[in-house]
Formats: sequence, structure tokens, C-alpha cells
Amino acid sequence: MPMTLFHKIIQREIPADIVYEDEHLIAFRDIAPQAPVHVLFVPKQDYATLNDVPADAPDVVGRLAAAAARYAKAQGFADDGYRIVMNCNGHGGQTVFQIHLHLLAGAPLGRFGTPQA
Ligand code: 5GP
Repeated sequence: MPMTLFHKIIQREIPADIVYEDEHLIAFRDIAPQAPVHVLFVPKQDYATLNDVPADAPDVVGRLAAAAARYAKAQGFADDGYRIVMNCNGHGGQTVFQIHLHLLAGAPLGRFGTPQA
């Protein structure tokens, strides 16, 4: 799998505003936030898209969601609410091909899923 910019962030080859890291994943602020809080949760295992996560390895995705929920609670916005999103391939709008989960929060969020005009 080719090295993506997220691999470079994990390896500290390019800077990022890292808010959490453990042996399984890293979380850092999105460079182009789509909400007042926009954090990306990225596993350290390499999978280009959600389609590439083996059926017997659901923990990879579960850990991202659990880490996002922990972060929301720790930051005090869990009760107000938030959204988690994983984009997959072209129609999903994926642009970086190392799987990642978006955490969006900090204000009421609009509806989503509308096809592009
Ligand atoms: P995707 O479109 O693949 O679901 O999400 C990729 C996300 O990565 C986008 O929201 C984009 O703003 C973010 N991104 C792209 N380049 C960088 C970067 O160099 N640093 C950070 N922190 N985020 C980035």
C-alpha cells in the first residue's frame, strides 16, 4: 500500500495537531475543518478503504469509534452530540486512502448524504 500523508503524520514526517495516540491509532485535527470540532481518527494498521478491512478484523473500526466517543466525553461535548463519518471511495468522497473516521462536533450539524448537483 502506498504511503499516504496520514502515514507521514503517524511517523512525524509532517506536522499535525495530534490530540490522542495509542498503540492502535492516532487522532489529529483536520486541516480543513468542516465543523468547530473536526478530528480524524486513523488506525496504525494499513487499509486503503473500509472495503479492505477483513471481516474478521472489526476491531480496527470499532476502536476508532470508541476512541471518538471517549474524546467527545473527555472534551465535554458528548451529551450535546456529534457525528462520526467514514467516507469510502469516489462516491463517498474519500480523498486520503488510509481509512479514517471523522468526528464532527461543536454546533448543530446540517443534514448529510445529499448527492452532488
Ligand atoms: P476524506 O475526504 O478522505 O474522507 O478525508 C480526508 C481528510 O483529510 C479531509 O477532511 C482533509 O481536510 C484532511 N486532510 C488532508 N490533508 C491533510 C493534512 O495534511 N493534515 C490534516 N491534518 N488533515 C488533512
